[in-house]
Amino acid sequence: MRRHLIVLDLDETLLHATSVKFSHEPDFIVGAYYIYLRSGLSEFLAYADRHFDLGVWSSSSQSYVDAVTSQIFGNRIALQFAWSAEKCIQKPDVKTHGYIYIKDLRRLQKLGYSVDQVWIVDDSPEKVQRQPGRHIRIAPFTGASDNELSRMISVLEKILNAHDDPKCLSNL
Ligand SMILES: [Mg+2]
Repeated sequence: MRRHLIVLDLDETLLHATSVKFSHEPDFIVGAYYIYLRSGLSEFLAYADRHFDLGVWSSSSQSYVDAVTSQIFGNRIALQFAWSAEKCIQKPDVKTHGYIYIKDLRRLQKLGYSVDQVWIVDDSPEKVQRQPGRHIRIAPFTGASDNELSRMISVLEKILNAHDDPKCLSNL
């Protein structure tokens, strides 16, 4: 059986990008942005890669996604895809007069993953509003050290051990 797929958001989930440099050095720079990686990132990715297929889906531009994923994943971790805003559904947001970029997980069917094989780790619930039941919420990372990615390892462990039993998964 094919492994389950974990879709990872980038900004405020795995990293924080800022045009204003913090007092400490960034992990790397992309264009005009200083990129700070979240604590525990390499352990989290190593664990996730061992047990799941991995993909990235950000609502930023494709050139940003390509630059960031080549730094974070490089040749070390194989991604099934690295998607940007181009793959999101753009929906007008009456509150902000801007747009919400929705990640509709049904788009992954083209890659051979049915929605019930997919989980998405994202700090923005509104972007996963089409399939809230597949959303693993993570607190937004804005630069301060936290334990969210090590908590994510225990969430993924729970998913592995639940064998799709919805009772075990009701409290992710
Ligand atoms: Mg985000």
